Amino acid sequence: MKNDFFGFDGIDDQAIRAERNKARQLRRSRWWQRKTSSGTCYYCGRKVGIKALTMDHIIPLSRGGRSTRDNLVPCCKACNTRKKSSLPVEWEEYMEHLSERSAETTLEKKESNG
Ligand SMILES: [Zn+2]
Repeated sequence: MKNDFFGFDGIDDQAIRAERNKARQLRRSRWWQRKTSSGTCYYCGRKVGIKALTMDHIIPLSRGGRSTRDNLVPCCKACNTRKKSSLPVEWEEYMEHLSERSAETTLEKKESNG
């Protein structure tokens, strides 16, 4: 009974291990090869090359995410590290910041073209 109080809102170790295994299998699949073939990070949109991309769960396993195709994205090491060290709220702020920036650059491009 000793760990029940702390374990009530998380999924157990065994489930996490099963999801990690699933992710490992997907990483070897053609689907993943296609997804990483451009070498682009899902979050920041930088081209870092296939070898620099890691597999990331958009919703972490520890927060109830699953190893499904729509929850797995290629991610550069910088974003991966940042995500791990951020609180979920901080990470969302970072994502908003990125989307604002990309909106600005699109605007700039349009202006310089016209
Ligand atoms: Zn990135």
